[in-house]
This record gives sequence, C-alpha cells and structure tokens, in this order.
Amino acid sequence: MGRPIGKCHICGKECELTYEHIPPKKAYNHKPTKMYIGKEYFKDLEKRDIKDTSKLRYTDFQKGVGDYTLCERCNSTTGKWYAGEYIKISNAIYDYLGHHLEELKDAKSVELDFKDVYPLKFFKQIIAMFLSIIPNEYLENHKELRKYVLDRDSVEFSNKKYRISLGLLKQDFEGWSGINHLLMCNGKIKLISFLVVAPFYFVLEFNPEEIVFDNLLDITSIGHQYNYNDRIALNIKSNLFLESEVFPINLFYHK
Ligand SMILES: [Zn+2]
Repeated sequence: MGRPIGKCHICGKECELTYEHIPPKKAYNHKPTKMYIGKEYFKDLEKRDIKDTSKLRYTDFQKGVGDYTLCERCNSTTGKWYAGEYIKISNAIYDYLGHHLEELKDAKSVELDFKDVYPLKFFKQIIAMFLSIIPNEYLENHKELRKYVLDRDSVEFSNKKYRISLGLLKQDFEGWSGINHLLMCNGKIKLISFLVVAPFYFVLEFNPEEIVFDNLLDITSIGHQYNYNDRIALNIKSNLFLESEVFPINLFYHK
C-alpha cells in the first residue's frame, strides 16, 4: 500500500504524506498504542465503568501514535530543527515525574529547573505538533503559524492571536482534539485546541481575550522573545493534572 496523498499540514503542498509521530518517536512514543475515538469512549456509560475499555473498538498504532500529516521535507526539517530539544526536555520531565511518583502523589504542582535549553526550538516543536492535529481547512486561515514553523529563525508569533499554555501530567496518557468551541462564562466563544502528550498537556487558544486558564502555565512569550540559537536557564512551575482533570478531548490513547 502506498502512502496517502494529501495536503501537508505545514507547507500546505499536495503530496505524498509521511507518518508524523506525535509527540516525536524518541519522546517515549515508539510503543504500540491503542486509540479510542471519543464517541466510543463515552458509549454505554450506564452499563460500564468509564475506565473499563475492554469491550471498546480501537485502532492499533503499532509504531507509536501519530498520523500521515506531513510531506517528507517538512517531516525531516522540523525533526532536525526542533524535535531534539523537545525530546530532551520532555524525557527529562517524564523521567523525573516517573521517579518521584510516590513523593508527588498528593502534590498539586511541581517546579523544575533546566540549566541549558533552547527555548525557541522547544516552542516550535509544540507549534509543529499543533499544526499536525489541526484540520487543514482551518489552517488555511492561520498561514502565519505555518510560516512560523517553516522559517527556523522567525520570531513572528503574535500573542494577540495565539496563546500557548502547558500543564504537566501525573499519568501516562495521550490524546488531542482538533478545534473546540468553548462557551465561556462571559458569553464569549473561545476557540481552542488541546494536545495531551505525556508528560505535557498543551492548550492552544485562538484570539485569546481576557480569560486565561489560570491553572495552566502561559508560555507564549517564549515564541517571540528568543532566537533560534539562544540558550537559557528555564524554570517550569506547573500544576500537575490527572487524566480526569484534563479537558474533554476527542481522542484518548492508553498505553
Ligand atoms: Zn510540507
């Protein structure tokens, strides 16, 4: 079977698509994984416990979670430019949380210090992952996000148009949504995309207005404050989330 043909989520060109691991394969995303579609996950809840997934239909990802979303070129350039730094930070946090499970059992937050990281590379990998999970039709109206990822050195990331926040997960759990519409308590509608890739829980808000999810850490400023080769000491102070505490998303993955 040949590779599917479609529009690359990053450059927008029609071409043969390659399999993009979300998160990168080396960020502990190489294991066979089951995928449940949201609607299946919430089926027959009166008859079964939500945690009992034994009778649900699922798709098997033999080589880790991901999708055919990128052309060969975008897959390899983003891999080369951004993925390595993301993997380094992600795995360090994953290992830290894994080794301190008992200590952090009742903790609501955690503070981590990194001595020497490339913040813009890490940030752009997050945006590249969001581009892969957001439907192409929607991305046509957000070409600046594509340009931002395609140009390694661009720092044109508008905090008026986008906000990126993160939380950390206590459990190994993955999933994402395309675009969600949330009706906020002030009557406004907020457009949002969720990306859960353990140990991170990322939220991308479109046209963020006055409402901030104050339980998440806003990292938007990284996107325009640093250059590609800037190295800094990074402090991440974030709340810790359980599976039941992340927003409803359309897909759930269980390892
Ligand atoms: Zn491409």
